[in-house]
Amino acid sequence: MRFLKPIFIILFFCFILFISVFPQVLRCSFVKYDDFINLQPKVYAATTSTLKQQDSLKKYIKIAKKRVEDFWGDQKGKATIIFCDNPEEYQNYCRTSDGAGCTIGTPVGSWIVLNKDGLNADVIAHEMSHDELMTRLGWWKTRTKIPTWFDEGVALMLDYRFVEAQDSIQRYKAYRDELFFLSKKSPSLEELSTEKEFFGQGEFYTKLAYYTSASIVSRKIAYGGKQAIHETIQKVKQENEFEF
Ligand SMILES: [Zn+2]
Repeated sequence: MRFLKPIFIILFFCFILFISVFPQVLRCSFVKYDDFINLQPKVYAATTSTLKQQDSLKKYIKIAKKRVEDFWGDQKGKATIIFCDNPEEYQNYCRTSDGAGCTIGTPVGSWIVLNKDGLNADVIAHEMSHDELMTRLGWWKTRTKIPTWFDEGVALMLDYRFVEAQDSIQRYKAYRDELFFLSKKSPSLEELSTEKEFFGQGEFYTKLAYYTSASIVSRKIAYGGKQAIHETIQKVKQENEFEF
């Protein structure tokens, strides 16, 4: 019994440390007590959002879920969706002001935070794909075994903002051409393994990183079908090995 007290103290300090490093996790966990409307189960919209925005949110979530089911088979991810109406609110929940949306994944839950620009099926489906991968592999394996380029490349298969073509071969060609148009020299996959490498080297580099990832993933699908992607994920799940 005397060991219990120090264990509780250590756990308590770990919790405090976690919350101070990731305050957005605490905010997301308590979103229902904040200034949000609970639109439907696990969907929250800022109280200042208009009825039109709320209707759009529900409509786009439906479209995004359909894309998740088409690509992943079924939706296992259960992230709570939080739609913010202004940049400050978004930054509070996402911890960054960048991007139209972000996914916060933790071992205890996940949240998809959207800002005004994220009110569309592309951004929601993109973030749902991140949540889907993490749900299927678990937080630890996703963080330690999945390179960022793979996670982002797969998410772009559900996100039609950069390339509209949906036929796998046409989509691959479109990404390849766009990438060639952007730069004659794209980064190697080894240079896009971590979030820091992918997002931390300026806007243009991140754009190149997205197109590079999408070209590689769409090429794999064009030759081997979606099954090839699922096999890679399965191998990580069963053998703890990433092979592409
Ligand atoms: Zn992403």
